[in-house]
This record gives sequence, C-alpha cells and structure tokens, in this order.
Amino acid sequence: MENKKNKKNNNNKNQDDETESVDLNKLKLDDEEQEQEQEQKKEFIDDSWLSTLKLAPSDYLTELDRAICPQCKKKRKYFCYDCYVPFGEPGLAPKLKLPIKCDILHYPTELLSKSTAIHSKVIAFDDVSIHEFPEVPDYNVDETVLLYPSATSEFVRESDLSNVKRVVFIDSQWHTANRILRDPRVKKLRCIKIDQHKTLFWRYQQHGDAYLATIEAIYYFYRELHMRLNGGNYDGQYDNLLFYYTFFYNLIQKTYKQGDRNFWRKQNYIKPAKDGITGDSITGDSTGDDEANDSTGNTGGDSNNTYISTADTTD
Ligand SMILES: [Zn+2]
Repeated sequence: MENKKNKKNNNNKNQDDETESVDLNKLKLDDEEQEQEQEQKKEFIDDSWLSTLKLAPSDYLTELDRAICPQCKKKRKYFCYDCYVPFGEPGLAPKLKLPIKCDILHYPTELLSKSTAIHSKVIAFDDVSIHEFPEVPDYNVDETVLLYPSATSEFVRESDLSNVKRVVFIDSQWHTANRILRDPRVKKLRCIKIDQHKTLFWRYQQHGDAYLATIEAIYYFYRELHMRLNGGNYDGQYDNLLFYYTFFYNLIQKTYKQGDRNFWRKQNYIKPAKDGITGDSITGDSTGDDEANDSTGNTGGDSNNTYISTADTTD
C-alpha cells in the first residue's frame, strides 16, 4: 500500500500533463476505496459455507427446555455432556457411523461442558471414545494416527491410510496439548494433518483463525478421509458432525445481534445487525443456564477454550 502510494506520487511529479495527473489521482482514490472495501470484507469471517452443509433439521432444539438427564439426573438442555445423551424426541438428533474409530484425549482441567469434542460423541456414540488424560489406551501404532500438525505430519489427502482403524485427537488448550504430546503412548503415533481451514469458533482465543475448535478438526478430518477414499468426492456424509456446532453458531449470532449481552469473543465476531450492534465488549458471562450456554453454546471466557491448529507447529 505504502509503496503503491509512493510510486503514484512519483508518477504525478513527473507528469506535465494536468489531465493525466487528475486521472491518476482519481485512480489512486478508486484504489484506496477498493482497498478499504476489501478490508471491511475481511473483518468478518466468511460463514456462507455453513448454509451448504447437509444437516438434520435442528428447529426442535429451539423448543427444548432444560430437562433432567435420564442417566445422571442432572439438568441439561440440548444434550448431557457427561452421558452423551441427546435431548429431544428420540430420532430427532442425527446419528452417524464413522469409517474409522475416533479417540479424543481430553485434558481434565478443562470443562467438558465447554468442549466441542463432546458433539462427536453425542452424534457418533459407537465410534467415538473420550479419554481423560493421563488415561491413554496402548495404541497399535500400525493402525492408529494422531491428528497433529507437526513439520513431519503428512496431509490426509497424501497419506496412506489403508491400514488405519483409529484417529486420535487432542482436546485441550494449546499449552496443555504439549503435555499430552510428550506422553510416550502418544508420541509414538504417526502424525497426520488436515488442510488449513479458518475456524468459526466464537470464543476469544489469541492464536488466530487457523486454530480450530476440536469438532471442526474432527469434521474436516472425516471429510478429507472420505475424499481420500472416494476419488475426491464428498457429498455431506459427515456434515452432521457439525449439527450442534452450527446450531450454536447461529444461535449466538442471533442472540447477540438482538441483545445487549457481551462476552469474550473474537474481534468483529458478530456481524453487524440492521441496528448496527457490533460491540466487542469484554464482560465475562461464563456460567449461566440460558440457551446460549453449556456444551459449547457456552459464551463465557476463553479459559477453557479448546482448539487444534491446522498450521505447522514445531515443539
Ligand atoms: Zn447425564
């Protein structure tokens, strides 16, 4: 930008023809307007792809009141994050079968109620296992891969996954993830990575948009695996992994556009509503019982945020 401006100013100096220099000035203005426009567009994350997902209808979720979990008897709203039981009439929550097993290593100091990884267990109950670190199964290295973007990780799209029966995800904040990664039972696993994607996660985290919420990483992995095994084709087979995530995303956009509630969130997270509410205030709201709370409808601070980087990391 700076260079471009200087170049144009130099051009102006060298021009004797006044008309020409007026035109150049106009050009410069057009350029600046265009750049400003582009800057404004960049500020808001493009979430248009969400509407292309093939999701089960989620309208019933908006009708749910908090209810007693049939198993643990605790009060929950959309599902129980301890028992992984979906709420609502039976059959309304989508169920998925995954092509290979999914293991999640969860760091115990972080609240399960705020983990997006839980969504995968609720939706694909038979194929997902959640382990509280330091509980780690003794994995068969020939059949297990770890999703982690190190410099030596192979991309799913390029990797030989023919013998792989299980994929492991780390569900923790970035700094605690290293503790899990140093565990010999985890360290011995072959690492794979997904393509870089931007997160839509709503809660503030300082690392940037290449750090995905765990459920986003799980979704992208199964999508890429399906493409790898099916000649690059994908037709929404695993979109329902994002069933709750998309619901919460839309709910939170709506709640905060309409209301005056504030929470730690990414800058410009909420797109401007017609009334122009775009505030980025930082009052915490982390433990309420309202609909935009619990099981990662949670709108509170970032202290329990979980995310997976899709950018290469060296540890
Ligand atoms: Zn329960």
